[in-house]
Amino acid sequence: MNKKVGIGLDLGGSSIKFALATETGEILKTGYQASDANADKSEILENLYKSVCEMKSFARSNDLHVDVVGVGTPGNVDLKTGMLMGSTPNFKNWKDINISKELGQKCELPVFVDNDANLMALGEARFGTGIGFNNLICVTVGTGIGGGIIINGELYRGAFYAGGELGHTLVETNGIRCNCGGKGCLEMYASATAIIREFKKHAVEIGFKTDDKKIDVAYIYNLYHKNNKAARQAIDEAIHYLGRGLASVINLFNPHAIIIGGGVADAGDIYINEVRKTAFEYAMPMPKKNVRILGAKLGNQAGFLGAISFAFTQLKECSYK
Ligand SMILES: [Zn+2]
Repeated sequence: MNKKVGIGLDLGGSSIKFALATETGEILKTGYQASDANADKSEILENLYKSVCEMKSFARSNDLHVDVVGVGTPGNVDLKTGMLMGSTPNFKNWKDINISKELGQKCELPVFVDNDANLMALGEARFGTGIGFNNLICVTVGTGIGGGIIINGELYRGAFYAGGELGHTLVETNGIRCNCGGKGCLEMYASATAIIREFKKHAVEIGFKTDDKKIDVAYIYNLYHKNNKAARQAIDEAIHYLGRGLASVINLFNPHAIIIGGGVADAGDIYINEVRKTAFEYAMPMPKKNVRILGAKLGNQAGFLGAISFAFTQLKECSYK
């Protein structure tokens, strides 16, 4: 009998990661395609389509039947229609598009779309560290900071599908201006972008010469372990901000677990431990009791696995109007 499978796409600023997998998260094939956040709408759509085609042709030659496509995209998505709402600060031309309709027509499959951080959270909840936790918050710390909220096993998206913006909770009065239009957002203080910015600043202060082209989070972690003062300051500050941000999350949600993923979390072993220490230092006694703070397990596979799982659920429960 033909196995029923889904295609999951995770659209990011520099790449599309995609896969063919079963509803239960068994990955049969993965793929990767470069993508440009400044490309125009039709080009981004075409790249998504090409990714679907690659997976479809693999499925065809392996006797697999593709049932559905799930897409995780930056920005807020109207769950009822598959329409990308408003604009996406880091994806200039990716707006005013019904991704479900446009991609669905091209690839002749039902396509369901949600916010990328939501689907990463769902992936970790259903197939990763989140297994067994009914209420959890997922935080992705990379170039930016994304968040996903799972309540009673289901994604909580907010009344108008724009909730879960953990990276844009306010941590500094009169703080740094954020791409979202706000000022003093957590993302401006605890993301990879913030770590690199602060490292460069502190390096100048202590007269430490760096090669700008080489600086990324892994490079800074390496110096951190060598006790470089600029690296220690930059990473310790980011940990402090994220820990305090998570203390607020604990006080608000009292979840079973907080799961931290993304490039910054994956780069250093000390990271989760230190963030946990800070979060527990600032959170209230009752809300923090029994809360687990854990590293994500699925890495960059969480997004497309969450997308596939979400798409199968949508296929059964509803269709777009
Ligand atoms: Zn912001």
